[in-house]
Amino acid sequence: MEITEILVRYGELSTKGKNRKYFIKKLHGNVRLKLTAFKKINIVANRDRLHITLNGENGEAVMEELKDVFGISSFSPVIRVDKSVEEAKHAVVQLIKKQFKENMTFRINTKRADHDFEYDTNDLNRILGTEVERAVQPISVRMKEPDVDVRVEVRLDGIFISVETLSGAGGLPVGTAGKGMLMMSGGIDSPVAGYLSLKRGMEIEAVHFHSPPYTSPQALQKAIDLTSKLANYSGEITFIEVPFTEIQEAIKKQIPEDYAMTITRRMMLRITDKIRGKRSGLAIMNGESLGQVASQTLESMLAINEVTSTPILRPLISMDKTDIISVARKIDTFDLAIQPYEDCCTVFAPAKPKTKPKLKKVLEMEESLAIDQLISDTLSRLKIQTITRHDNSESTDQTTFDSLF
Ligand code: ATP
Ligand code: MG
Repeated sequence: MEITEILVRYGELSTKGKNRKYFIKKLHGNVRLKLTAFKKINIVANRDRLHITLNGENGEAVMEELKDVFGISSFSPVIRVDKSVEEAKHAVVQLIKKQFKENMTFRINTKRADHDFEYDTNDLNRILGTEVERAVQPISVRMKEPDVDVRVEVRLDGIFISVETLSGAGGLPVGTAGKGMLMMSGGIDSPVAGYLSLKRGMEIEAVHFHSPPYTSPQALQKAIDLTSKLANYSGEITFIEVPFTEIQEAIKKQIPEDYAMTITRRMMLRITDKIRGKRSGLAIMNGESLGQVASQTLESMLAINEVTSTPILRPLISMDKTDIISVARKIDTFDLAIQPYEDCCTVFAPAKPKTKPKLKKVLEMEESLAIDQLISDTLSRLKIQTITRHDNSESTDQTTFDSLF
C-alpha cells in the first residue's frame, strides 16, 4: 500500500478570525515552496485542511519536509484503495497491525462524499470495526480519544484511509507576523533566536557584523552556514554583512576599555536599526539571555537599548543555556556554532566589561566618536546576499548596498 495523499491540519491559525484566509494562503505558499522538488504533487487548501496529492511522489520524503513548516499542527499519510469494502477491510487491518500495541483502542470514523456508494457511514463503521476486532487482538473500540483514529473517506475515485497522525512544527506560517532583523553572530544563541522568531510567523533577515582581518573568512562563512540552516524553515534568507573593523578600531582607540563593549553594542544596534528601516523591518531580534554574560544584564540592556525605540525581541531571554542548546541540537546548528572561529565581539572584548554601565557616562564618552560619519561609511559598504538552505557557499544575487543609503 502506497501513500497517495497527505492530509495537513492547521495549527493555531484556525483561531485567527478574519485573518484566517490570509494565514491559509501564506501556509499554502510556504508548503508549495518547501515542496518545490516534488514536481508532480498537487496542493489544495481548504478552510480547515490542506490536501497534498502525491501523484507518485514519495510520501515519506514529502512528510520529512513538512515537519519543518510552521503553522501545521499535524499531518496524516492517506492511502487510497479501490472502491470495494473488501479492499477497505484489508487495508484498515494492515494499517492497524503496523501500529499495534496490546490492548490498544481504536475508532473508525467514516465520511462519504459519494452518496451512491452501497453502504452508508454507519454500515461502514460497523463493518470495518468488526473486521478489525476479528483480525487484530487484543483490541477494543473506544469513541473518546482512542489510541488510533481510523479515518475513512469514500470519494468518487476511491476509498481513502488514514490511521497515523504525525506532529507538525506548530507555530504560525512564516511571513504572517511581519519582518524582523536577526542579529546573527556565529554563536549558539542567535540561530536559536532566529528559529523561534520564524516559529511565531516572522520573516527574518540576518545581519552579521565582522571585522576583517581580525576575524577570519571562516567566521563569516560560519554565520552564513548557520543562516542556511535557518533557511530550512523559511525558504530563503537575506544575509547582510556589515564591515565593522573601522568602528571597532575607533572604539578601541577612543573609548575607555571598561565601556568599549557597551558602546560597541550601541553601534551595532544603531546600524542594525538603520538597515531595518531601509528594508521595512518591524523589529530587531537577538540571542540575549538574561544574565548570561556582561552585556546581558538589565543595566546593560537599558544602556544599549537607549539608541532606539524599535522593538528589540529577545526570544531566549528567560531560557537556560541547556535549554537553548537542546533547541540548537534539534535544528542542527549546535555543531556548527561551536566551531572555534573568533567573533568580532570576542576579538575586541575587553578583559573586564562593565556589567552596570551608566548611561550618562556612555553619552559623554560617545562624544569623542564621529558616530554619524562612522555609521554612514559602514552603511555604504554593506554586502547583501540571498542564502538558501542547501547551498551554503554559493551566494546568488550579491550586490553592494549603496543604492539603499
Ligand atoms: P550568540 O551565541 O548568539 O553569539 P552570545 O551568548 O555569545 O550569543 P554575545 O556574543 O554577547 O552573546 O551576543 C549577544 C547577541 O548579540 C547575539 O545573540 C547576537 O544576536 C548579537 N551579536 C553578537 N555578535 C554579533 C555579530 N558579530 N553580528 C551580529 N550580531 C551579533
Ligand atoms: Mg557570541
